[in-house]
Amino acid sequence: MATRKRQRKLQYPSRLGRDTSAYSPPSITELSISELELEYTFVEPLPDKYLCGICKSVLKEPHVTECCGQHFCKNCLEKSKSKSESCPICRRNKFNHIKYLPFVREIDELKVYCARSSSGCTAKLEYADRNNHDKVCEYALVLCANKWCGKTLYKKDLEGHSQNYCEFRESTCQTCGQVGKYKDVGTFVHYVVCPDIIQNCPNSCGEQFKRKYSESHNSICPEGIVTCDFAEAGCQATPKRKYLDSHMDTNMKQHLSQLMKAHTAMKQEHAAIKQDNAAMRKEIGTFIKRGVIPFKK
Ligand SMILES: [Zn+2]
Ligand SMILES: [Zn+2]
Ligand SMILES: [Zn+2]
Ligand SMILES: [Zn+2]
Ligand SMILES: [Zn+2]
Ligand SMILES: [Zn+2]
Ligand SMILES: [Zn+2]
Repeated sequence: MATRKRQRKLQYPSRLGRDTSAYSPPSITELSISELELEYTFVEPLPDKYLCGICKSVLKEPHVTECCGQHFCKNCLEKSKSKSESCPICRRNKFNHIKYLPFVREIDELKVYCARSSSGCTAKLEYADRNNHDKVCEYALVLCANKWCGKTLYKKDLEGHSQNYCEFRESTCQTCGQVGKYKDVGTFVHYVVCPDIIQNCPNSCGEQFKRKYSESHNSICPEGIVTCDFAEAGCQATPKRKYLDSHMDTNMKQHLSQLMKAHTAMKQEHAAIKQDNAAMRKEIGTFIKRGVIPFKK
């Protein structure tokens, strides 16, 4: 009884009984692209004064030298100082430099295109807003929220993919209620084994039944092939179930004669065994008389 219950559960898992630990709650995973890898293009041509005297790119943390009033990125200057103590432009030894706030403000107000414009983002923003924009940019790359998928998508496509297209999304078979990954329960892979799919009888009897009832139908299907009740007596007929009765009726004589033949054969076998038994008993008797086998009373 207990075994039957368990089997039923295995074949048709209920919604309550399913293992939810296999599914991770949806979450957005940002791919780690650091700010350094994002390159911004300025909408207007960038005035030369905002370019670093060393790296020739837009100033990052602008610093100005006291000796010659040139502008550099803070990092570029520090790298240069670690190699040589003299100013990279006027060659003054042991020169000083300080942060240059006016350029910080001016550059921050310049307009740039989104660093993901080549992917399709059309946003124009102030240089200062680049980090804020990247957090909401629809063209930022994220990982699909469904465990096992591993696909990288634009943020704007994430919801549609995760909920409607991802083959790893959680899905329920509309026919039997089994829950699993879409590729397992939502496709032909499951359709060919789904226990509740209705199918036609393979013997073409005209009946339709759920796949899980195939075996029980097979045991009553009128078009199913059966063996004759007198098979053991020697009848080799294999009529369809619907013809078994008439087979029995029309072959009564044949069945009886087959039965008689089988009966006679069994009788002969029985007599032979009886004879063997008597001979054996006689032999044991002589052994006992000769004392080969001790006889206890
Ligand atoms: Zn620089
Ligand atoms: Zn200088
Ligand atoms: Zn953008
Ligand atoms: Zn996916
Ligand atoms: Zn199903
Ligand atoms: Zn049938
Ligand atoms: Zn028969």
